[in-house]
Amino acid sequence: MADKVIILGGGVGGMSAAHELIERGFEVEIYERQIIAGGKARSIPVMEGEDDHGSKEKHIKALEKWIDLRGPEAPPGGRRPWLPGEHGFRFFPNFYRHITNTMARTPYYDRGTCYDNLVPTSQVLVAQYDAPGIIMPERFPRNLKEVANAVKTMLYTISPRDKIAYEDIEHFFGCMWRIMTSCKERRLDEYERIGWWEFIGAEHRSEAYQKFLAIGLTRSLVAAKAQTASTKTVGDIAVQLQLGIATPEANCNRLLNGPTNLSWIQPWLNYLIGKGVSYSFESTVQEIECRNGRIVSATVECKGETRVVTGDWFISALPVERIAPLITKPMVDIDPALGKLTALARNVQWMNGIQFYLNREVELTHGHAIFIDSTWALTAVSQRQFWKDLDFEKWGDGKTKGILSVDISEWDKPGLNGKKAIDCTREEIAKEVWEQLKKSLNVDGQVVLYDADLHYWFLDPDIVDDPDDPTRQSNVEPLLINRINTWRLRPDAATLIPNFFLASDYVRTFTDLATMEGANEAARRAVNAILTRSKSKAEHCEIWDLHEPDILRPMRAYDEARYNAGLPWDDRFAVAIEAALKMGQDVVGIQKGGDGPLAVMSPIANEYSKPGGLIEEPALTDALRMVGPPQEIFDMLAEYFPGRNLNIPGTEAVEDAALSLMGGADMLDPAHWSSSFAELGPNSVKPETKLQDRESSASKRKITITQKD
Ligand SMILES: Cc1cc2nc3c(=O)[nH]c(=O)nc-3n(C[C@H](O)[C@H](O)[C@H](O)COP(=O)(O)OP(=O)(O)OC[C@H]3O[C@@H](n4cnc5c(N)ncnc54)[C@H](O)[C@@H]3O)c2cc1C
Repeated sequence: MADKVIILGGGVGGMSAAHELIERGFEVEIYERQIIAGGKARSIPVMEGEDDHGSKEKHIKALEKWIDLRGPEAPPGGRRPWLPGEHGFRFFPNFYRHITNTMARTPYYDRGTCYDNLVPTSQVLVAQYDAPGIIMPERFPRNLKEVANAVKTMLYTISPRDKIAYEDIEHFFGCMWRIMTSCKERRLDEYERIGWWEFIGAEHRSEAYQKFLAIGLTRSLVAAKAQTASTKTVGDIAVQLQLGIATPEANCNRLLNGPTNLSWIQPWLNYLIGKGVSYSFESTVQEIECRNGRIVSATVECKGETRVVTGDWFISALPVERIAPLITKPMVDIDPALGKLTALARNVQWMNGIQFYLNREVELTHGHAIFIDSTWALTAVSQRQFWKDLDFEKWGDGKTKGILSVDISEWDKPGLNGKKAIDCTREEIAKEVWEQLKKSLNVDGQVVLYDADLHYWFLDPDIVDDPDDPTRQSNVEPLLINRINTWRLRPDAATLIPNFFLASDYVRTFTDLATMEGANEAARRAVNAILTRSKSKAEHCEIWDLHEPDILRPMRAYDEARYNAGLPWDDRFAVAIEAALKMGQDVVGIQKGGDGPLAVMSPIANEYSKPGGLIEEPALTDALRMVGPPQEIFDMLAEYFPGRNLNIPGTEAVEDAALSLMGGADMLDPAHWSSSFAELGPNSVKPETKLQDRESSASKRKITITQKD
């Protein structure tokens, strides 16, 4: 008989675990509190006729009506008397591998898989109060127009208007470089204990630097705040996002081509149930019993009735603030890490969606928009452009032509109305968000949003009147934030209780960010632990680490050696490699991607500079001229183009460093080099290339790279 696994909570973590387990022959039961599957990733039907705007009381009634109308089963393309709402819009950055792998294994009716429902985005709009927004490219430029746009963005960002000095930009990229070339151990130890704000030196730099590079980046990562977010988390994810942009062939960042439950969650649930998963709605876990060193049961309340459910294995896929109070002393006695969940549960913050249904389509940008000056930390997506196959006439009263889906991530700072979101009524929240959007979009004499555009709005029903203070709001489902030094509070997926596992976004994962990706990776880890402990012969679930560019492996190895020796990070090896490459290039005339550090660091430079690549495109100069770069910027760019000499600073010292390193370190193993060079592309050194003729005498200061025939 198959082992039975009880899964507590039916969000992305719970469903992901069920997916892996049912495909490996386990019996699976999920117990979920809500009447919609998907947890924080769920869509929410909006009954506009109910005039509920999401208020809990009326929303419950609307949901009952939705169930009566067989809402969850409504076939794609059919007429729906409700409008599509979301707990928050869904963004799938291109470094995601776990959740997208699961989606690619989930049939979408008889039309491919749910993965096929992801559509690429190409831009991010950074909108400012009373000033034109900046459109950032979100993928590697594919044509001249995109190249021109990319250059234009860069110019804007460092232009006098936005007051980010060149040295600020250089400093910022220096910080990113430091993260990329730091070993994992240092990131997990040192950088976990430093806030992003401090790490990038925001305090003593310009307001524009703080706004665009400190706050802007963290704001685009869930609800993180620059001052309190761990550098390990923000840095790692920022590197992933940058690598995504810099990689020519990578998938772009993505959104779904329709409401989340329609395009993904409901077909996923259908698939799981079809495979034999039992998914119980309206079933709230109230207690977990641990006896004789094992979990023996969970008590579940369902529509007024209490049930005790038993199984061989138990997975908690509940959010941190819900599992923490269910952890008992016998559980902590076996696994003290579970006792830290109460402290971890304090690290949550509010992030909730509000939707504006418009009388016309308003395309902000082809991707998501960050409202950098909005004190309520708004981000938004104009949905319709991505929901191409959706017939809006068939939704609600048919009058909605566009949807602005907005996330509010700061509830504790005064808005334009002088009030914090938490202190506002639902109506005040909607009004204030709309005003902040208008102030950011209706700029430079242009009107993007008119009041008359607004047909209806809907605020996440998780925002409810605070039972202790009716003048304030309370949030039923906050989101974990990776604050400084909280990794130590986070548990592994496999607990020390032999049959108890955790599969939710707060668990320790490579992803290390409270996201659908993190929840899915945690679920895979929980399932793998069950496979191991049950001695199952089934194949383990795949787990991927974050992408670390091979080309920087020698530098990370160098840093690991320094970290182990208790030394701080330094850049000497990178500069030494730079020197070595340059000298090698001089000797054998290797065609590599440019002369400067960019060539070594980034495939983008290689792509630009390979023969026949963009750099040889005569129209590139025209494109640059089109956006009218000031001469000094043009010169700065030219520094990185091939054919120009770049001075290596402190040549003697770095050559010494290079030679001494090359004398002994096993990072000189040609394998490191070949993979690194391979990553430089077809025009770089061939994989068989070896570092030879290393001269041990620093006095000669000569390193050659020769090619083996
Ligand atoms: C507004 C917003 C926007 C977001 N946008 C993105 C995004 O664009 N991309 C991204 O990757 N991530 C995003 N996230 C984060 C992502 O949604 C979550 O990290 C992820 O969905 C968490 O999944 P989970 O299964 O761990 O937890 P949850 O989704 O919280 O699932 C837990 C489940 O347990 C249920 N539950 C709770 N208590 C009980 C109980 N006592 N008994 C039974 N069931 C219970 C809940 O109802 C829920 O269904 C966003 C989050 C928010 C809030």
